[in-house]
Amino acid sequence: MSTPAAPISPDASLGLECQKLAPESVAEVRREIEHHLATTLGRHKQNATRRDWWLCTAHMVRDRIYKRLIQTQATHSAHNTKRMYYLSLEYLIGRMLISNLINAGLLDTTQSALAELGIDLWEVCEEEVDMGLGNGGLGRLAACYLDSLATLDLPAIGYGINYEFGLFRQEFVNGYQVEHPDEWARYGTPWQLCRPDYTQTVRIYGYVEDRFDACGNPHPVWLGAKEVLGVPYDVPIAGYGTGTVNFLRLWSARASEEFDLQVFNEGGYVEAVREKAMTESFSKVLYPNDRTENGKELRLVQQYFFVACSLRDIIRRWRRSEADWDTFPDKVAIQINDTHPAIAIAELMRVLLDEEELPWGRAWDIVTRTFAYTNHTLMPEALERWGMPLFGRVLPRHLQIIFEINAQLMQRVLAHWPNDLDRMREMSIIDERDGKSVRMANLAVVGSHSTNGVAAIHSELIKERLFPDFYALWPERFNNKTNGITPRLWLLNANRPLARLIDERIGHGWTRDLQRLGELEQWADDAAFQNAFMAIKRTNKERLAEVIARECGVTVSPDALFDVHIKRLHEYKRQHLNLLHILTLYRRLLNNPSLDIPPRVFIFAAKAAPGYELAKTIIKAINSVAMRVNNDPRIGDRLKVVFLPNYRVSLAMRIIPAADVSEQISTAGTEASGTGNMKLALNGALTVGTLDGANIEIRDAVGEDNIFIFGMTVEEVEALRKRGYRSTDWYAADANLRTAIDWLCSDYFTPGEPGVLAPLRHSLLEGGDYYLALADYAAYCACQDQVGEAYRDRAQWARKAILNTARVGYFSSDRAIREYASDIWQLDPLPVS
Ligand SMILES: *Cc1c(COP(=O)(O)O)cnc(C)c1O
Repeated sequence: MSTPAAPISPDASLGLECQKLAPESVAEVRREIEHHLATTLGRHKQNATRRDWWLCTAHMVRDRIYKRLIQTQATHSAHNTKRMYYLSLEYLIGRMLISNLINAGLLDTTQSALAELGIDLWEVCEEEVDMGLGNGGLGRLAACYLDSLATLDLPAIGYGINYEFGLFRQEFVNGYQVEHPDEWARYGTPWQLCRPDYTQTVRIYGYVEDRFDACGNPHPVWLGAKEVLGVPYDVPIAGYGTGTVNFLRLWSARASEEFDLQVFNEGGYVEAVREKAMTESFSKVLYPNDRTENGKELRLVQQYFFVACSLRDIIRRWRRSEADWDTFPDKVAIQINDTHPAIAIAELMRVLLDEEELPWGRAWDIVTRTFAYTNHTLMPEALERWGMPLFGRVLPRHLQIIFEINAQLMQRVLAHWPNDLDRMREMSIIDERDGKSVRMANLAVVGSHSTNGVAAIHSELIKERLFPDFYALWPERFNNKTNGITPRLWLLNANRPLARLIDERIGHGWTRDLQRLGELEQWADDAAFQNAFMAIKRTNKERLAEVIARECGVTVSPDALFDVHIKRLHEYKRQHLNLLHILTLYRRLLNNPSLDIPPRVFIFAAKAAPGYELAKTIIKAINSVAMRVNNDPRIGDRLKVVFLPNYRVSLAMRIIPAADVSEQISTAGTEASGTGNMKLALNGALTVGTLDGANIEIRDAVGEDNIFIFGMTVEEVEALRKRGYRSTDWYAADANLRTAIDWLCSDYFTPGEPGVLAPLRHSLLEGGDYYLALADYAAYCACQDQVGEAYRDRAQWARKAILNTARVGYFSSDRAIREYASDIWQLDPLPVS
């Protein structure tokens, strides 16, 4: 590659606003911002802080979005349209100012308006605290789907919990993770609007009394329940380049006033206030465990609280235009994001039976036609189950209903497979093993008309391994919806220079039709385009190097290969396999100082669940190795290891555009799909990955020459485990592997803290290495050598990177949402003028 292309500033304006929306003048926008500074914030320009400018800019765009929100809701009501309701315990949204400006078509105008005031938009937007109401991929998927639903003009509302504390803020102290509370909306947020008039009252706890009507039919009544108020806070969700503004309704728990009054009157003022605080704890904090939540009562209470509020709200809206329950599934589709909201199935049954007095059969038909379920995991420990005593105490009437659902299911199974007790045990919603428990995944499959996995292989494994019996009974219910990501956030917003380069070549249509990126293929071998593409990558790496210097105090060269491993810290994601390779590389460099390999920066970012000790040990291990490597004068710039603290959406947006290599190295069969893999490939990073989740479909899309696949397949993993995997044999047989593990756990990396990394070694050897890191180690190292080799040929590398961007259009969340809308929801777009 010859002449370097002219650098494009990452903060350059896009130069292309969406023309569909009414253009506004810079002067107008400026006037509005100044107006909010004076009237909403009560500030004079001279004393305004950056946060003030952020806030009044947010109010300016919010005003415009609200106008469209009103128009959208009026249109939906006027057409009495079907709506889709997305129930999710998590929404990982990140910052909203730039997204809202982009989606409202106001980015360039606002940038100019602020510039006239002497204010830099890109400095201002750094003031925003991420809205982090989720743990990882599942919550981020929900956020991408909301963006696509609005952009595609689909009538939809998201429901969730307005956690006062989102996912914890992570800090490192001496290499150890320390968690801090994330009071993200401590001083309020401009993105939420409280709607007290839509407050819902729901009941929880209590007991059931069996009563009988005049004809002797049983009429159970739920008594002695505690009342809780759900107060809705709405977050508007603006579509990109369209008039549609949907919303996300998040519930805050409040104590019911009647309840307070009673205790007050009895003279127990302090007790009443304490009781009130306990009730309000229902929406206090997001549980920080990604994938597992082990039977905590408050978690079940949270799930029921938000589901019950949401269903009441859905029914209230349906009643505005309908009265006959049989129309309910024609107007209402409900998607449940994993089993966390699956209690909605029992709750809607309860409403229909106990409050609406529908007969069982009719109620059940309405319920199953309404709900659809997305499964996110095959791992047995991540499948939700609730101990029966706990469940019965929190939701006594729902437990009864679940028993009845299960009784009918067992009859059905018996009719299909006479005398097959094993089959009944497998399929029962009630698990009879080690203390009875309620299996939420079974309830979700039985009570819905659709069960989907989130990548092709995952959906196959659901049918073959997780639910073979349900699949045999209802094959038509099972389907695949490969995950997607929104191109507005992950390319247009996160990588504006690349977005502009693409605009220059193929126009702006890709932002709403990502497959159009395929048109870039024609320039994959074009030196000028390669130069421009790689110059942008280089600029993004410089920016990330600044972040690394600030956050980690480590200087890295933007000329080095940036190798990125960012996601939740989990054994199945195998950050420790990456670390073993780093140790191997480090030792090779020490043994052979003239070893000719491209300089590499290994970049990690990940939060570990606060109670997940081994994950925290892996963080300590990576930080300890980083400390040594980065300060080893023998190594110089040839190898650096950095662990950026506090992984979150806004940090991901900085890292991803700067990545050369994307680490997607989970044990085959464990990562349902992944979406980080899609974001990185879209931004021109080459994947080093196993044949797991969506990596397989990414390989099919980009072509084998443009991805680095290694390691065991699902079948090989299964066969190895069946044979009896003994990690110690692999340790004994591979000198490099042995050295890496022994070295890691020596005092060399943790001087003064002998043995702190021993639990990691123990889990890999005596512990049996369940995720087979040792078995994939040699293949991984060989693959990484190929990566280093490939990186030397800059033109070939550029070609591969361009082809990644050009060929991953399929992984747009717009494509995924279109599939959900047509296959599962029967939902049509309704454009808003
Ligand atoms: C995309 C994303 C994830 C999910 O990443 P995976 O690699 O798919 O596990 C998690 N956290 C954040 C902040 C993300 O943006």
